[in-house]
Amino acid sequence: GRGVAMVTAAAARLFAQRQQLQSLLNQLHMSTENLCKVQALLRREMELGLAKETNVIASTRMLPSYVRSIPDGSERGDFLALDLGGTNFRVLLVQVHSQEQGGVHIFSEVYSIPPQVAQGTGTQLFDHIVTCIVDFQTKQGMMGQKLPLGFTFSFPCKQTSLDQGILVRWTKGFSASDCVGKDVVQLLREAVKRQQHFDLDVVAIVNDTVGTMMSCGYDDPNCEVGLIVGTGTNACYMEEMQNVGTVEGEEGRMCINMEWGAFGDNGCLEPFMTTFDQTVDKASINPGQQRFEKLISGMYLGEIVRHILLKLAGQGTLFRGQASPALQTKDLFPTKFLSVIESDGLAQRQVRAILEELGLRVSCEDGMMVREVCQVVSHRAAQLCGAAVAAVVEKIRENRALEQLEVTVGVDGTLYKLHPHFSQQVKETVKVLAPCCSVTFLQSEDGSGKGAALIAAVACRAAQQQNA
Ligand code: BGC
Ligand code: MG
Repeated sequence: GRGVAMVTAAAARLFAQRQQLQSLLNQLHMSTENLCKVQALLRREMELGLAKETNVIASTRMLPSYVRSIPDGSERGDFLALDLGGTNFRVLLVQVHSQEQGGVHIFSEVYSIPPQVAQGTGTQLFDHIVTCIVDFQTKQGMMGQKLPLGFTFSFPCKQTSLDQGILVRWTKGFSASDCVGKDVVQLLREAVKRQQHFDLDVVAIVNDTVGTMMSCGYDDPNCEVGLIVGTGTNACYMEEMQNVGTVEGEEGRMCINMEWGAFGDNGCLEPFMTTFDQTVDKASINPGQQRFEKLISGMYLGEIVRHILLKLAGQGTLFRGQASPALQTKDLFPTKFLSVIESDGLAQRQVRAILEELGLRVSCEDGMMVREVCQVVSHRAAQLCGAAVAAVVEKIRENRALEQLEVTVGVDGTLYKLHPHFSQQVKETVKVLAPCCSVTFLQSEDGSGKGAALIAAVACRAAQQQNA
């Protein structure tokens, strides 16, 4: 009778909704074939970026870091380190002792960089940084001490030496004026000068990927790749000097900061992008830039999900066709929601609670569908990241003409560390796409700070040897 008819109607509606969801999510599916294509495209960009003649046209800049070896364990001393460009700004005191004396000790403070400072003038930004350093030194009772400083600066910089770096572009949430094209170390030194009774000895500028590789390399000599998947994404690796066309010399190796976040800025990833990716890019503060990063990193995944949910609400598939004002607001669906919603054993009720916080009316079925959206978006990100890692380790293997390569990747970043499945999916993808490499992933602890200090230590030792 009528009861049966109603049940059938409800089932039919559910079936239709599921189909709408599936057909939308299919757009984000990455086949192994397409992942291979992405890997090959990145490999090509790597070659272009490394060669002197083609460096300017490559989307991945393959920036030389002037770091020529991983630590050998003999590094010693007290160092200051700065870490700018991730979730937080940090100032650190890093004490590097021998293993017998307890190894590395770190004291650090977290400071916020308000958006109006990150997006204000360069002078404001660097004055703010110096103010934080003064505060840190005061708290640590070390005012007046002038320790060597390693500056982890997680943006693309064109280096000509360890202690000089010209900012190529801002990324992530930064856009401070009058910095692009300038030497960041110089900007910091000028800000120090504006502050009276205060001095710093900046000896190295370091990308966070390089710092992470170095800090993991301190424990594992196989660590020759650094990977970050946090607010942004990027990697570095040890390349043969003879392949680095942009630096004189053929001997030995140098760590190359790939800047793979910009991969695809020449349009080569267009076939793999969806309308949601286009929308997220257009609404960002740097449209057209960092296209690969915008498919992968923590600053953007929540936004991709939010736009998909808006679309599904708009076509009546979700939330009874009603999107709330919060869901229509940029950045109100942060990537950490994906990590929570996708965690194993999370009750449906908790998923719904998160969505209700956003002012949505959520059925059981809605909760399950939102979870699927999150899974597909983060899975695609992990697969793309894995395809890129595969390109890197395969290049190292070929460089060394090895049939089988054993290599460790030092990793840091909130998304990689906090998401329940991301790291596993990266590993699985690398296994499939780089079958001749056996890759170990090592999570760094305090990678940026410790790594910057180790690089500062190597720089100081080299300077002492030169003076001797
Ligand atoms: C920057 C890289 C950095 C990465 C991870 C990107 O946006 O361009 O220099 O390594 O974020 O922090
Ligand atoms: Mg960081």
